[in-house]
Amino acid sequence: MNYANVIIDISHEKVDRTFQYIIPEELKGSIKPGDCVNVPFGKGNSLRHSYVISISDKSEIEPERLKYIDSLSDSFNRIQSDYIKLASWMKDTYGSTMIAALKTVLPVKKPVKLKEKKKIIRKLSSEETASLYSEAIRKKHPAKARLLNELVKEEVLPYELVTGKLNVSSSTINSLFKDGVISIESESVYRNPVVPDTERDKAKELSDEQRYACDTINEKTGKYLLHGITGSGKTEVYLNIIEKTIARGQQCIMLIPEIALTYQTLLRFYKRFGDRVSVMNSTLSAGERYDQCLRAEKGDIDVIIGPRSALFVPFPNLGMVIIDEEHESTYISEQNPRYHTKETAEELCRIKNATLVLGSATPSLESYYGAKNGEYTLLRLTRRLTGGTLPDAEIVDMRNELRNGNRSMLSRRLSELIKDRLDKKEQIMLFLNKRGYSGFLNCRMCGHVIKCPHCDVSLSRHNDGRLKCHYCGYETGDVKKCPKCGSEHIRAFRVGTQQVEETVKKMFPQAYVLRMDADTTQEKDSYEKILSAFADNEADILIGTQMIVKGHDFPNVTLVGALAADLSLNDSDFRTGEKTFQLLAQAIGRAGRGEKTGLAIIQTYRPDHYSIIDAATQDYEAFFEEEISYRRLCSYPPAGCMVHVLVTSDDERRALGLATALKKRADKDVAIIGPAPDVISKVSDRFRYGIYIKGRSKESVAATRLKMEEFLDMAPLINENVTFDVL
Ligand code: ADP
Ligand code: ZN
Ligand code: ZN
Repeated sequence: MNYANVIIDISHEKVDRTFQYIIPEELKGSIKPGDCVNVPFGKGNSLRHSYVISISDKSEIEPERLKYIDSLSDSFNRIQSDYIKLASWMKDTYGSTMIAALKTVLPVKKPVKLKEKKKIIRKLSSEETASLYSEAIRKKHPAKARLLNELVKEEVLPYELVTGKLNVSSSTINSLFKDGVISIESESVYRNPVVPDTERDKAKELSDEQRYACDTINEKTGKYLLHGITGSGKTEVYLNIIEKTIARGQQCIMLIPEIALTYQTLLRFYKRFGDRVSVMNSTLSAGERYDQCLRAEKGDIDVIIGPRSALFVPFPNLGMVIIDEEHESTYISEQNPRYHTKETAEELCRIKNATLVLGSATPSLESYYGAKNGEYTLLRLTRRLTGGTLPDAEIVDMRNELRNGNRSMLSRRLSELIKDRLDKKEQIMLFLNKRGYSGFLNCRMCGHVIKCPHCDVSLSRHNDGRLKCHYCGYETGDVKKCPKCGSEHIRAFRVGTQQVEETVKKMFPQAYVLRMDADTTQEKDSYEKILSAFADNEADILIGTQMIVKGHDFPNVTLVGALAADLSLNDSDFRTGEKTFQLLAQAIGRAGRGEKTGLAIIQTYRPDHYSIIDAATQDYEAFFEEEISYRRLCSYPPAGCMVHVLVTSDDERRALGLATALKKRADKDVAIIGPAPDVISKVSDRFRYGIYIKGRSKESVAATRLKMEEFLDMAPLINENVTFDVL
């Protein structure tokens, strides 16, 4: 291993490639990828920090033209190099460029100037200042007098107070400065997005199950899966293990899906750790993110809470990563590299010798499979701690409703119960298991569906009567006549939350109803507003999509209705059974969080599907067994490994042609499915063809992916684009 490929000083230089250097004899064997080294660079051959990305035996150009690495650098933070290692792993695992991976793990590309806090400091004695004040009054300099009067009383004044409240101009301040009356000092302040100003909470007396889980995790560095039903006290366990980690002088990263990052959740952490905890979320500016990273690096905070990107906050001595609601799909990045947060956290914890804790009421198949194989230590919390028990759930077969002449979207049983709860002044949640938006338009005569002219998806009609494409943003006026057969019987096929709302309002005019979906949560804070209004008992019924079932505590909710529970089973994805189970289990878990026992009604056209039955009985184990045998049968993950390769082009023939050419690159030990048009065969006028690489091991699938990438490097592409998704 004679040569090192390095990236020069990433934080300051615009770098888009690696440079090769010779490893000097005395450093051979001691330089590893991720190390920070000093190398001569540029015209004057001045020494620059750089990161070793890889090491190789071959020189890329004649060795005579290469320079030597000067030395190993110790002035640079080790952490940084750990994250380079992580980036390199991400590049290999998910197939992206090194730069894209580096940009992901080093979220701060250019330092932003720190906000400055200026102070005005009196340099004279109080008496001297008082006499200057009298002079200013005499000379009729009212602004100067205001400031001097204040300075008689206070030696130090915030600059903002002087220019703001005292209304003194900066030229007046400057003239006092020139006269030597005051000095102006400034200090950098970190922008802290949260201002925790709250009384501290003491730790709760742990239950036996919680105690066991905490003791086990606190005893040994490792990988743990905390499987706890909703309301079983997982957060209390997190608080305990974080506390212990801090006590050991280490720091923690606490990942929570963005949608569950509510003030209510954060408050529990502030109350425990005060300003040693900080939060990172998508509303922070680049400067604020930079501050968070600096604060972490300098040891000003012990805990960072945030969505997946918080994984890359560079703590000096990371002790633990916790991933709450680990089954959530938002933990998979949509940008290149399309990394899985859980796997990436595993790698990070391996590099840093830190503990990884996954928590969920409905673990992903992958994690539970890992626990069964001994990769994770499984810890269970099986009881609710607030006295409430898990709600009962009843399955209602909607086919019977239709047979009995009930055409409403609410079953008779559910309507009765809604009435009962309204009478008792208890709250109700109606969950529509539907990802998309309200009504697409179809013709009742010929069946024609109005689609976006640029994408292969149906347009949906909004309240304002406009038809919109949710993929490309295309908009058009309402259509009154079928463009195919001319019939006027063209209607919006509405299984949206709006229609549920209308139905409910008609049937229960006395009820106050809130609706939460993509349309009602467009504005900033609207999400929190709806939730807190419902929590404050300002409404009887909350209607919504999946947003309403994710981790909120509404103690007065005693009835949950899941409408069209099987709708998500129709998605074309091998994980639909898992997704449906998770959503229903979560929805049911919303009922009976307080003292009163809850009840859930699951309305479905497929009452015998195991995802629905097992969710109703809250039997995760039974669900897992069914689902894993199906995955085994089809070699789907986690029983096998799969990568989705998506080829897009504005020319359909070229898209198909490239997909076919890629297929030919496959090794013998993997199977290739396709090429076939993607589920959505066209978006924004680009055609989409997909193939699947399926294999026994990650390595075999990755090897084929690598061959395809190499092929793409050489292929004469026009404007085709290829992405790889590890499934
Ligand atoms: P999860 O995160 O599993 O949904 P939480 O940690 O939010 O559960 O706990 C649910 C409820 O139980 C909360 O109101 C919490 O304050 C309460 N709780 C948790 N642990 C205890 C405990 N050891 N003793 C008493 N109450 C507890
Ligand atoms: Zn028609
Ligand atoms: Zn479109």
